[in-house]
Amino acid sequence: MAARRLSLLLSRTASSNPFLRGNNSRLTRGAFSYSTSAAIEEPLTPSVKVDYTQLLINGKFVDSASGKTFPTLDPRTGNVIAHVAEGDSEDVDRAVAAARKAFDEGPWPKMTAYERSRILLRFADLLEKHNDEVATLETWDNGKPYEQAAKIEIPMVVRFFRYYAGWADKIHGLTVPADGEHHVQILHEPFGVAGQIIPWNFPLLMFAWKVAPALACGNTIVLKTAEQTPLSALYVAKLFLEAGLPPGVLNIISGFGPTAGAALSSHMDVDKLAFTGSTETGKIVLQLAAKSNLKPVTLELGGKSPFIVCEDADVEKAAELAHFALFFNQGQCCCAGSRTFVHERIYDQFLEKAKALAVNRVVGDPFKAGIQQGPQIDTEQFEKILRYIRLGVDSGATLETGGERFGSTGYYVQPTVFSNVQDDMLIAKEEIFGPVQSILKFKDLGDVVRRANTTRYGLAAGVFTQNIDTANTLTRALRAGTVWVNCFDVFDAAIPFGGYKMSGQGREKGIYGLNSYLQVKAVVTPLKNPAWI
Ligand code: ADP
Repeated sequence: MAARRLSLLLSRTASSNPFLRGNNSRLTRGAFSYSTSAAIEEPLTPSVKVDYTQLLINGKFVDSASGKTFPTLDPRTGNVIAHVAEGDSEDVDRAVAAARKAFDEGPWPKMTAYERSRILLRFADLLEKHNDEVATLETWDNGKPYEQAAKIEIPMVVRFFRYYAGWADKIHGLTVPADGEHHVQILHEPFGVAGQIIPWNFPLLMFAWKVAPALACGNTIVLKTAEQTPLSALYVAKLFLEAGLPPGVLNIISGFGPTAGAALSSHMDVDKLAFTGSTETGKIVLQLAAKSNLKPVTLELGGKSPFIVCEDADVEKAAELAHFALFFNQGQCCCAGSRTFVHERIYDQFLEKAKALAVNRVVGDPFKAGIQQGPQIDTEQFEKILRYIRLGVDSGATLETGGERFGSTGYYVQPTVFSNVQDDMLIAKEEIFGPVQSILKFKDLGDVVRRANTTRYGLAAGVFTQNIDTANTLTRALRAGTVWVNCFDVFDAAIPFGGYKMSGQGREKGIYGLNSYLQVKAVVTPLKNPAWI
């Protein structure tokens, strides 16, 4: 079970981060649960240097054309970590031109697939070697627990690149019998220049979901990172160069959505676009793609995923998994199980356990060992979450625990649990993207299926039951791109991911992730030369 595996991992990995200054073992004793309303202690100082802050264009780190920079902030304090080059449309033009040249003139798509695969594998080896530095940057920029970044996420990124490196030389087309008079070959070819826009909640993992399949298929890339988290992608870009990736194959633009992101989405020379972010921004990106050159777009958007705890469930285990499904990564997951439906017969018992888990959740400096929850990403999200909590209270839901800021600096929010949540409350309808669990009561399977599906989203769902018939009924009835049964957030590279309804279009990961980066070409030749030749 993912929750159990994760907690085991976290408990086994007393922090050994070599990139922190200070006596870590002494400081780890400062980890505390939020119920002790002590202020957050002095944050640990990462000693990793931020060496890469420029844009990566055509194999070189360069300033933005305007010379402008923007600050990237530490969510623990709101302090500036570094000033990063701010890309805009002129930089996007330069990056697209470099990617175009690397595609049209080579060497990337002209290399053998085996050579491309070797470069991806070399990159994965280098990333594995630099795991802890990258994880440190990721935690610093994003606020996620270091142990999560170092033991789970960066290793997953490595695995992603190895998985798609394995595909690179196994992508081939078909021959079809057709009319018996023609030899018909179906070729699978790279699109060309892929534009990719990623979010801040899993910066390097989202980078991997996009970059690995695109490169394996032979595309070249211009990727825009989220303005909140530009650092890890720039660091690994250097590793790509070291691995032998030719100039122009991967270009990285740091910058803002309405400027750099919009320029990439509407660029006439970008052949394919992939976006992960909010549904609202997804609509904008799709429009920009349509209004420019009709480039195909893959979208991975928001969610309001149900987590259904059935009557037969072991209540303690169900509460643990539901807690993990919502609170993991500070609740900042598009697939978070943010509507916890619990059968009425076990509802009260479940609520007690859910509340106890939230009260005991260990919140604090994400660099400290044993910390389960760090700060939210930025002041905007922090305030949005507190606003939703107030809305929950005002609409009549029962605030069981939490509900306020945690500590007095940075963007920490207390783990929060609401009971008596009704389907029409905004906290049950909209994506909060924070550590706020909404618990709803249901009577029978028909009732819960109807209510779980009454949402504009359809990204994921969780089912907790010991009854195979119940599991089969629910997995078929739920309208979502992923249904986890007795587990949650299992993200192997081979498992496709994507949304029904307004949670997205297309799939990433696994074999399905390749389709997004391949054109299909039919080549038709007569079996016998026609008489007129
Ligand atoms: P959030 O609200 O969680 O920050 P967004 O969907 O706004 O999520 O952001 C996800 C990514 O989309 C980020 O890289 C962001 O810069 C980018 N983005 C935001 N607005 C636009 C836009 N108008 N055009 C293209 N990209 C955008």
